[in-house]
Amino acid sequence: MKTVDLIVPCYNEGEMVELFYEKTSSIVSEIMDYSFNFIFIDDGSRDDTLKKIKGLAEKNKNVKYISFSRNFGKEAGMYAGLKASTADRVTIIDADLQHPPELIRDMLYAIDVEGYDSCSARRVSRDGEPKIRSSFARLFYKMINKMSEVEIVDGAVDFRMMTRQMVDAILDLPEVQRFSKGIFCWVGFNTKWIEFKNVERLVGESRWSFWSLFKYAIDGITAFTTFPLRLATIFGTVVSGAAFIYLLIELIKTLVWGTSAAGYPSTIIIMLFIGGIIIMSLGIIGEYLARLYMESKNRPIFVFKDSNIEGLKNGRK
Ligand code: UDP
Ligand code: MG
Repeated sequence: MKTVDLIVPCYNEGEMVELFYEKTSSIVSEIMDYSFNFIFIDDGSRDDTLKKIKGLAEKNKNVKYISFSRNFGKEAGMYAGLKASTADRVTIIDADLQHPPELIRDMLYAIDVEGYDSCSARRVSRDGEPKIRSSFARLFYKMINKMSEVEIVDGAVDFRMMTRQMVDAILDLPEVQRFSKGIFCWVGFNTKWIEFKNVERLVGESRWSFWSLFKYAIDGITAFTTFPLRLATIFGTVVSGAAFIYLLIELIKTLVWGTSAAGYPSTIIIMLFIGGIIIMSLGIIGEYLARLYMESKNRPIFVFKDSNIEGLKNGRK
């Protein structure tokens, strides 16, 4: 009998965990030939999430949990779950029931019958999401796919089942600042995409503010492409090229018509323009430098305080 681990990152999901467990376990209990384990990651929640999870663990042998010492973010949660998993098939799924657990059956089919290495869900509609947010999301996917070699699918959510082999490959990537959407693509393997309609959150609201999504986008871009650094070089070249042409024009004008004074606005404009580009380029270099710096500290990806999994260590490759 094959084993399946369901990794569930939870941050302030006190109202959802029990509901999630009930619904999901009733669905998976109908799937024959597999045994399912839940690994709940309490990502430093401030509500009663941990208490609820512990309650579930007391009643059900197949509930494992890891509780972080503070909020480390969903990326750290997913990593901890993958690290703790031992099953043949590993699935990451949200606690808020926005990822329909009914798809687990289709995912198992894709891997074990159709022979894929992983199966991932893709949202086809962004109903119930603010317009401005979805258009920024689209812009982000367009940009990152133009700039980097890995292809990051628009609408892909972190709801995915993988084989043990693929999970091990993911755990082999040592970076501390993790961008899973890119990592899943980077490791390769065959992925089947299944589509689903956006499900609105039952209780609570998305943990993502606009600002945190913006930071996430910058993280994603810097983690998977160094193209912005080249952009700085390109800008520099174009501007100095333009300056040189301008110099030639002025030189010729002076030789033909004699000296001209005037030109105060143009001087200022050019100065500001070049100044702006220099500052922007420094900023881009700074972004990469900051990440290099953080990465060089090689800190653990998560620190846990409580768990019912034996032998778990704080997260570092
Ligand atoms: N989550 C987490 N740590 C965080 C933020 C979110 O573990 O710092 C979990 C959250 O409990 C949920 C999942 O990640 O199970 C997705 O979060 P959310 O629903 O807020 O994001 P969205 O569905 O809007 O992408
Ligand atoms: Mg959600």
